[in-house]
Amino acid sequence: MPVLVMKFGGTSVANLDRIKRVAKRIGVEVAKGYDVIVIVSAMSGKTNELVGWVNETSPLFDAREYDAVVSSGENVTAGLMALTLQEMDVPARSWQGWQVPVMTTSAHASARIEEIPTDNIMAKFGEGMRVAVVAGFQGISPEGRITTLGRGGSDTTAVAFAAAFGAERCDIYTDVDGVYTTDPRVSPKARKLDKISFEEMLELASLGAKVLQTRSVELAMRYKVKLRVLSSFEEQSDEAGTLVCDEEEIMESNVVAGVAFSRDEAKMTLLSVADRPGIASIIFGCLSEAGVNVDMIVQNISEEGRTDMTYSLPTDQVKRAEQALDELKSSGGLNFADLDVDMDVAKVSVVGIGMRSQSGVAAKMFKVLSDDGVNIRVITTSEIKISVLIDRKYLELAVQALHDAFELEKAA
Ligand code: ADP
Ligand code: ASP
Ligand code: MG
Repeated sequence: MPVLVMKFGGTSVANLDRIKRVAKRIGVEVAKGYDVIVIVSAMSGKTNELVGWVNETSPLFDAREYDAVVSSGENVTAGLMALTLQEMDVPARSWQGWQVPVMTTSAHASARIEEIPTDNIMAKFGEGMRVAVVAGFQGISPEGRITTLGRGGSDTTAVAFAAAFGAERCDIYTDVDGVYTTDPRVSPKARKLDKISFEEMLELASLGAKVLQTRSVELAMRYKVKLRVLSSFEEQSDEAGTLVCDEEEIMESNVVAGVAFSRDEAKMTLLSVADRPGIASIIFGCLSEAGVNVDMIVQNISEEGRTDMTYSLPTDQVKRAEQALDELKSSGGLNFADLDVDMDVAKVSVVGIGMRSQSGVAAKMFKVLSDDGVNIRVITTSEIKISVLIDRKYLELAVQALHDAFELEKAA
């Protein structure tokens, strides 16, 4: 029988009523003749609560125990979903990651899936089971420890299962009815897209649009998984939601496909470092070794052989970065006058494959922001995106202004 993967995020399984509703939705696909693999997240808010408990218990925690704790939310929903389906006379059982097993790297808290053997679940389908409910977000390392895939990781579990089982489709059910031109919770003018290219979705996701985890889009692109985002709160047809697909399948598109943003950014400036070969390598080598993900970087013009180095990083990595640089300074590895930290910044990006062939997007973006009095602190560009770091208080204003200026409320 053909296999379908259906993934339900936290708000879609937030309580027993919602789990029942979702189970009915699964029943519809079973009745159509699919063997269904259901990937579930933890109930909404649960993972945050678990992360909070870990931080409170041990601020510089052992990541293996972090994973043991934060993976548990998904186990509860997987079991409850299987029970709910059984109550509806749908043959179902739950699987935790290690039982499948979902084999991952040992990079705890941000592990990557390496392999998903299909024999266990396929054998059960062969015996008449119709729904395999799998706890998302988790796996098992080569050392036999429980791992997690990073926040939003159940999306990646879903796409990886769809690839491994050759599923007809991977449907990601969430609390919005598709991928929009920007986060519909920030801009009321955001427009739902019927289709979006893998490349654009990949950029939007990596720049902060958390509707899909970046890694899930990468996997879907690589393994040609038919990936769809749709709402678990509405009745759905086969055409509903947003299809993430190859750019060749999209006839018309705007130069800018969407605006993404991230509030979880901080800016750090190392004041007065020597301007000579090797300094950037020392600074960013040290940060990388400390597990800090630096994003945007600018080096100021130097005066008398010294310069300032500014870069952005996720807010939750600031402490780790400060500690690493302080240690580097006290061990004599790097000389700098001061370390300035700004936690009140945000990153706004415009994304579109049309930028490859059309110039002037950056100029327009900077003009729009300047007209609104928004100061740009750092800029980075790539072939299909432009990102700026701005003061966080201007974030909503900047998103709206860019959405208006690039006329994203109108279809191409
Ligand atoms: P789930 O719990 O189902 O995984 P998430 O909260 O991770 O859901 O992702 C869905 C959310 O992503 C939406 O509620 C929305 O606020 C946000 N989002 C951000 N950018 C976009 C976008 N461009 N299109 C749709 N949703 C977006
Ligand atoms: N529950 C996990 C999280 O909140 C994984 C997921 O929902 O995708 O990040
Ligand atoms: Mg999510």
